[in-house]
Amino acid sequence: MEQQQRPPLLEVKGNKAPSRLPVSGRKLKRGPDHMDSALEPEKKRIRGLGPVNKMITMSRSKAPPLMALPPTQGQSAGQKVLKKTVPRHSTAIAPVPKSKKPVAAVPAQKTDASAGPPVMGWKKPSKRPAWDLKGQLSDLNVELKHYRERTQTLDQENQQLQAQLREAQHQTAATGEECRTLAHELAKVRVQAEQGQQELGSLRARVLELEAQLDTQEGLVQALQKEQLELHEVRRGLAAQLEEQERRLKASEMALSSSQAEVASLRQETAAQGALLAERGDRLHGLEMERRRLHNQLQELKGNIRVFCRVRPVLLGEPIPPAGLLMFPPGPGGPSDPPTRLSLSRSDERRGTLNGAPAPCTRHDFSFDRVFPPESGQEEVFEEIAMLVQSALDGYPVCIFAYGQTGSGKTFTMEGGPGDPQVEGLIPRALRHLFSVAQELSGQGWMYSFVASYVEIYNETVRDLLATGTRKGQGTECKIRRAGPGSEELTVTNARYVPVSCENEVEALLHLARQNRAVACTAQNERSSRSHSVFQLQITGEHASRGLRCAAPLSLVDLAGSERLDPALALGAEERERLRETQAINSSLSTLGLVIMALSNKEAHVPYRNSKLTYLLQNSLGGSAKMLMFVNISPLEENCSETLNSLRFASKVNQCVIGTAQANRK
Ligand code: ADP
Ligand code: MG
Repeated sequence: MEQQQRPPLLEVKGNKAPSRLPVSGRKLKRGPDHMDSALEPEKKRIRGLGPVNKMITMSRSKAPPLMALPPTQGQSAGQKVLKKTVPRHSTAIAPVPKSKKPVAAVPAQKTDASAGPPVMGWKKPSKRPAWDLKGQLSDLNVELKHYRERTQTLDQENQQLQAQLREAQHQTAATGEECRTLAHELAKVRVQAEQGQQELGSLRARVLELEAQLDTQEGLVQALQKEQLELHEVRRGLAAQLEEQERRLKASEMALSSSQAEVASLRQETAAQGALLAERGDRLHGLEMERRRLHNQLQELKGNIRVFCRVRPVLLGEPIPPAGLLMFPPGPGGPSDPPTRLSLSRSDERRGTLNGAPAPCTRHDFSFDRVFPPESGQEEVFEEIAMLVQSALDGYPVCIFAYGQTGSGKTFTMEGGPGDPQVEGLIPRALRHLFSVAQELSGQGWMYSFVASYVEIYNETVRDLLATGTRKGQGTECKIRRAGPGSEELTVTNARYVPVSCENEVEALLHLARQNRAVACTAQNERSSRSHSVFQLQITGEHASRGLRCAAPLSLVDLAGSERLDPALALGAEERERLRETQAINSSLSTLGLVIMALSNKEAHVPYRNSKLTYLLQNSLGGSAKMLMFVNISPLEENCSETLNSLRFASKVNQCVIGTAQANRK
């Protein structure tokens, strides 16, 4: 398209040949100057062509200058030329119609160029002689004509060029517009591209991020797949277990149903057994009550006051007593019978001295409910009293004393020797027996409770042997009081009453009592042998379903030494104090004897209040009570006299019979 528009310019370019114009191309460039000199008259008319020619010359050297020309300037110059030239040559040069395209003008010009203008055939006439003015004038006319034609042609070219210029300007404007639009679009596209770049950048970052996520997810997926495999394995294992469990469950269900049937039949059986059991329970209870009655009858037959004599063995380092000092004649049933008799033979030294003959022996025979020779063990002794102790569970007060001189074995009999279970005394054995029988009776509905106390009566003052803490061993004085107004039950103020239910607890209490006595011993020598130790157990039994209740105390008393002190020996202050002490002991022991006598003789007044001991034990003596006295004696010859005293006291007690015992039943 550009090439089509350009031909006129190319045509102009080709018009440089000197053959076309009488002046050389170089001269044409300097046209106006040349014309001024050569063609003075025409100078004023075609002055306006100067710039056009300049423009053409420029366009010849390079095509683009048309574009560089300011359109207004070019246009105005062209228009000026046209305004001045066109009216003068309207007859000679036909104006180029505005609509006529420059392309159409080109072939005509081309034909002109190839064929040559009418002036082209004009040649400068050879120089005429100076005189030939006419010839010179005609030559000048011809030349003038040639230049007029030439001017006309140039006007035409000029018009074509003007048209081309306008067209080019128009195109330039359009191209400029287009260019601006494109630039605008380009800017927009650049902005878009920049945005695109930014987006691309962020998308790339996002892609990287997503790739990283993908990597993580892939790792996760792999881990999950691994886990899935493991879980699969576990599931298989569990499924196998489940199968096994189901199999077992089925087996269990079958076993259960058979068991249920069995249970149903067992229930029936149980109901039948229950009825039978109830019936047997009733019978058993009847039998138990009958047993108690018979047991009591037996104890009564044995006597409500029984006296056992126990002789301790000769200890290591003690002088061997003369043979026959103590004899144990067999009982009425022969040697197989347990011994009940004892003979003490002692020589009367005073009589022997008088007649010079060997001192005759005086034999003293005693008979008791039972006699235990030195070789009798603790177990054997306890067996004899176990039944009596059991009476306490049936509701009969039971009281066991150990009487005898110091060192005769009272404490050994009641508490036992230390360490060896074989030498345990009556107190631990009796309590163990009670706990075990109570346990048996619980099967018949009897519930027993036991509360223990342990006090010492020294010089008519009562002290708690179970005291602990600051009161330990110090012996805050205790008082014996009635448990409540009108109550027959006695209680010791300031003394501990400790519930016990097993032998360990009892052992702990006996240990504590020993400790308390030891503290007292350091304060006053041999105090333990000068005081009465009273262990009491309050026994309470309840048969809730039958509404039965029984309660009785079991008292186990280690009496103070029964030995007497010769008043003649009481010279010093210490001895006098000892004498007073002994008199107090003897007084309380003789009060005990008097109380037993009064009970035996059914006297109206029983002197319980004459000593702390009898006052404390009044509920365990007399009436329904069962009493047992151990008379402990020493086997030594040097203790003969005290032994005899003890045996005489015990014999007196043994002759007593306390009225028929009544169980403390409610
Ligand atoms: P008491 O309490 O009457 O003063 P003990 O019970 O303290 O007398 O006994 C004095 C000593 O004799 C103690 O060493 C004791 O172990 C011992 N004894 C007493 N009776 C027996 C016995 N039956 N068997 C062995 N030793 C005994
Ligand atoms: Mg003792």
